[in-house]
Order: sequence, then C-alpha cells, then structure tokens
Amino acid sequence: MNISTRISTLNADGDDGWSVFYRARQMVADGVDVIELTIGEHDIRTDPVILDAMHAAAKSGHTGYAMVPGVDGLRDAVASRVQDQTGVPTHRGNVLITPGGQAALFASHHAVCDQGDIALYCDPYYATYPGTLRAVGATPRAVLTRPEQDFQPQRTDLNAAAKGAKSLLINSPNNPTGVVYNRDTIEGIAQACIDHDLWLISDEVYDTQIWEGQHISPRALPDMVERTLVVGSMSKSHAMTGSRVGWIVGPEAVIGHLINLATNTTYGVPGYIQDAALFALTNGPELEKKVAAPFRRRRNIAYELLAQQNLVRHVPASGAMYVMLDIRSTGLSGEAFANKLLDRHHIAVMPGESFGQAAAGHIRVAMTIADDAFASALDTLLSFAQEIAP
Ligand code: PLP
Repeated sequence: MNISTRISTLNADGDDGWSVFYRARQMVADGVDVIELTIGEHDIRTDPVILDAMHAAAKSGHTGYAMVPGVDGLRDAVASRVQDQTGVPTHRGNVLITPGGQAALFASHHAVCDQGDIALYCDPYYATYPGTLRAVGATPRAVLTRPEQDFQPQRTDLNAAAKGAKSLLINSPNNPTGVVYNRDTIEGIAQACIDHDLWLISDEVYDTQIWEGQHISPRALPDMVERTLVVGSMSKSHAMTGSRVGWIVGPEAVIGHLINLATNTTYGVPGYIQDAALFALTNGPELEKKVAAPFRRRRNIAYELLAQQNLVRHVPASGAMYVMLDIRSTGLSGEAFANKLLDRHHIAVMPGESFGQAAAGHIRVAMTIADDAFASALDTLLSFAQEIAP
C-alpha cells in the first residue's frame, strides 16, 4: 500500500545535522555521562502551584470534552495578555486555544495557504518549520538572514522572496539564534507583508524571555491586525512543555474557520490543562519571571566567558534560551565541531546546519543546565575551540 506523498515528503530536508543529537542520545542510553546543551527544554519542571491547580481542576470534574475553541476564561486571559502587549483591542473571539504552539503553527498555515502556495520562513529556523509548511500542502521558501546582520531579516531579501508568496512566518525572540527583532526589522517585515499582500504568522512563544531590547509584536503595527496570526504557548513561558497548551490570536473570521479545523482535528485541549494555564496566566508575571530568570543568568555567564577570548564570536543573545556561537575561525563546520566536541568532551550542542544554511559554521548552545555546570561546559567548549583552531 502506498502512503501519501504529502506525509512521506514532510522531512524533505533529510537529517541535516540532527545526527549529532541522536548520537548524543545514544551515548546517554549506553551509560555515557553526556552534558546535553541541545534541545529547548527547561531544567526545572512545571511549578507545583500550577500542578496543584491542574489537579484540583481534574478532581472537580473538568475531565470531559472541553469547549473546542478553548474555555472562556483562558481565551479571555490570552486576549487581555495580547491586548496589553500590543495595545490592539483583543477579545475572546480573536483567540483559539491549541495543543501547544506547534499545533498553532500548523493550523495557522492551514488557514491561509492553499495547496502549492508559497509560504516564506526565515533561515535559520526552528527545526519543524519547513515540515509544518509542507504538512498543509504549501511550498516552503526560505528568506536567508546573515550572521553579519545579526540574523535580522532585511527588507531587500524579504521583497525578493515575497514575489508570488502567500504567507511569511517569523519568530522573535528567535530559536535558534536568540536574536530579538528590532523595530526596524519588524517594520520592514510589516511593510513587506502589506506591499506583497502576505499573511504574517508571528511565532512569539519566547515572548517572556527578553534579556535586552524589547519584544515588538507585529500585530501592534498599523494595518497589520487583519493579516497577522500570533502564535503563543505556555511551554516556554511557564515550563509547561508537556502540557501542550498554546494559542492563535487573529482576526475573528479566521478564528471561526480555525474552530472548524479544530473540531475536525484535535477537538480541543483538555479542560484541566486549560484551567491550569488560566491559573498560571492570572497569577501574573512572577511565575514567568521565575521561569525566565535562569536563562538571563546563564546568558550573562556566557557573555563573561566569551569576553575572555576572541576566537569564538556570538550574535547578540537578546532573548530565548540559546546562544549561537560562530565557530568559523576554527576552520570547522558546525557539524564537525559538534561531533568532535561530543567525542572528546562528551558535550552535546546543535550544529547551526541543523537549522538551515544561514547558520552554517555556527553551533547553538541551549542554556538548559545548572549555572555552574553550564559555565564549566562553556569554558571547556571555548578551550576546545582554541586547541583545534589553526
Ligand atoms: N516555535 C518555536 C520557535 C519553538 O522553539 C518551539 C519549541 O521549541 C515551538 C514553536 C513549539 O512549542 P510548543 O509546541 O511546545 O508550544
């Protein structure tokens, strides 16, 4: 029996450097003590007060089918959060609760792309992007960004790529680079969307992790509210990666269609998970600050260590849980560097090549282990770079 072309070609990019990650996982399974600085998973678990709220909601009977668009209270809380961030009037009808940001990315593109439509995304990119675009039948087209421009998408590149395209997917604060798009970049993105009549899908799942500068949501810009779908999630902000709860905020008519899609696909998100998310959001920024604080500290640790040498460069890590290091001066590709580092020092990092062409010659370091261990691993990594540099 044949399976569909759509599903068998989702990962048309192939492995693209993920072999380092799988090799590290295999070493761990074989009992080797590997320091993993690979994926974006916190080293803390969901706060017990959120788990208590989840437990209480389940015990009180919120275990049946929940409202498909999301429970009213959570939709209201997300709407007021986005309204506070953007100044744009936002209400329950603008919000769909989804099983995490990933499902929101898929549903958003389903809403705006027909079969064969060109869907733009910025390279380097979060690993699932091209596959997500293919999953809805769209044709992914990359907009290259450059390390010398801090991986900020440039107007000329956006305009060149936009011809004939239907949508643009952006992500700030950015995974994998840790870059926060500045006002000029966001304005350039908005202008390209208006000039080329593009839908904008703005992945803002790291919006609570800003170390420098300001998070600017393009939904806040003039003439953008009717063409922008904002993707959000509780995963990164509240260390709730396993709870699978996120959202899409967009024009009410689009959300109406997305509710139909949800009815025919996910049938909503468990009620007790939504109640826990509502508890977390209404308990204010303190919980978010607590989750973000270790990454801010470790970013500072990384900066101090990087300042003591001048071989390995970095792009400004202004947000998110990663630092992207430029190791081209060692003469190795990101993949070769990551493989050697894993073999010699049992430290696992992601090669930049795993995230597209633009980050070749870089490595992404996830700041997801305790401060002391992180400092020591980074110190070893930097000494290793000195050893192998020509
Ligand atoms: N978007 C970006 C940029 C991410 O890094 C991730 C996860 O790492 C997601 C979306 C998906 O997150 P989730 O589905 O857990 O909300």
